Amino acid sequence: MPAYPLRALVLRKTKLGETDLILTLLAVDGRQVRAVAKGARKSKSRLGARVEPFSVLDLLLHSGRNLEIIAEAETVATHDALRADYDRTMAASVVVDVLDKGSMEGQTEPQLFEMALVTLDVMESAPVSALEPLVLAFLLKSLAMHGYRPSLDRCAACGGEPEVPLAFSVDGGGILCGRCAAQGSSAEAIAPAARDALRSMLRSRMADVPAIEIDPAVARDVRWIVRAYTGFHIPARLRALDYYLGQAR
Ligand SMILES: [Zn+2]
Repeated sequence: MPAYPLRALVLRKTKLGETDLILTLLAVDGRQVRAVAKGARKSKSRLGARVEPFSVLDLLLHSGRNLEIIAEAETVATHDALRADYDRTMAASVVVDVLDKGSMEGQTEPQLFEMALVTLDVMESAPVSALEPLVLAFLLKSLAMHGYRPSLDRCAACGGEPEVPLAFSVDGGGILCGRCAAQGSSAEAIAPAARDALRSMLRSRMADVPAIEIDPAVARDVRWIVRAYTGFHIPARLRALDYYLGQAR
């Protein structure tokens, strides 16, 4: 089998045997790919120095029986600034962990790769106070790309006009009108400013997210809504996200 090229973002690395690594990758078309970097843990390995999480690589791969095998790797972006600073490392770790748990081997989503890279790029230089909104916006946008865009303008159940106080239902798919909320769905009241923050995060380009002003009075609401909504659609344990939001409280 001839080798084939693939651009990919490193999400995670795991030890294999004495000297190898398994890389979990997000491929340019949004699929998840797992590949072996042979000898990457030997001290003189050129490959080993390149295969850190957050790195973007141009790979040459051979198809293996269970895992792909890396023949060559060239670095496209290292995202070093994300490793140099604790807050940035934690925020970027949520991005790669959610991509690790939320992306699947057979499932392509071409926009996901581009959005992940832009998110990491912006996180490198954004003010520290903008890191949490960037994490939350990334979660909302990636869920929207997978078809789980929360309904924020109309009732998620009947399409009707929602009234204040607004009710947000995680399993109902977003804001509900009073009538639908009363019909047994587990909805919680949220302030209009929290809805506005969610809407801004979904509509803004990633580069513009740091400029979104979130009313501090609703920051907690925004956080729990995005956490609960993400957990509902990605049922795996999201350790990096829980740690991150636990620290932010
Ligand atoms: Zn309704």
